[in-house]
Amino acid sequence: MRTNIRIALAGAAVAALAVTLTGCGSGGRVQAGKPAAGSSGASGASGGAAQPSGSPTSKSTSGDNVPPGGTAAVNPLIEYTTGAKGHVVALTFDDGPSAVWTPRILAVLAQYHAHATFCEIGPNAKASPATVKAILAAGDRLCDHSVSHNEAMSKWTAQRQTYEIAGAKTMIENAGGPGTQVDWFRAPGGDFSPLNRHISAQNGLRPLGWTVDSQDWMRPGVPRILSNIHKELVPGAIILMHDGGGDRSQTVAALKQLLPELVSKGYSFEFPVK
Ligand SMILES: [Zn+2]
Repeated sequence: MRTNIRIALAGAAVAALAVTLTGCGSGGRVQAGKPAAGSSGASGASGGAAQPSGSPTSKSTSGDNVPPGGTAAVNPLIEYTTGAKGHVVALTFDDGPSAVWTPRILAVLAQYHAHATFCEIGPNAKASPATVKAILAAGDRLCDHSVSHNEAMSKWTAQRQTYEIAGAKTMIENAGGPGTQVDWFRAPGGDFSPLNRHISAQNGLRPLGWTVDSQDWMRPGVPRILSNIHKELVPGAIILMHDGGGDRSQTVAALKQLLPELVSKGYSFEFPVK
């Protein structure tokens, strides 16, 4: 299991962004379909081999299936797998950080020696730098989840989308302190487009999808969150949960059941491929 402890120093707390009861899987925008053509699941860059029936099913695009051209150093295709073979999953938590809920999630992760990727909304990171530092100190990783979490950002101008992506990245880096690395970008609601994937890659961020939607943001109850996960879980999956956006007590409770179960089944916890 990789660890990636980084030194974190300065940061300034400013305004918090009110994130309403929405989630990345909200709005019916996210497609429960197959991986978009050209999406990375089985691409060489993802590290994943051809994936037959049991492969993760992507669900983070809104019809975007046209990879852009260009020669960005970072792959602009949406990443849908952990890359590692075998019983491995990647846990991802969106819409934070939250000074209340993120530490509780970190505590459960630590109990099971699990690691996760946190997709943070820029102003939330700015408002809670200590939480960003705690994520880094735990050896977990960071993903950019935009400035304003608008699930239709792909319709905006290039300039505005660039601010959503690059602006949030800067806020997260400043919150984490010198040396903070942000590796991925996850469009709110999976609202990826060729343009915003290109902007993402040009900013050093690999577009990050998911394959298992817990729908925890809806607070459907712990049994339902777990059954949502069980329905779609296969080796290599990227699981979407939330540490921000309101009361995440159900998420924490579900995690307390999910992690020991996954460990007992031989799963380990990885990061998505960049
Ligand atoms: Zn989100």
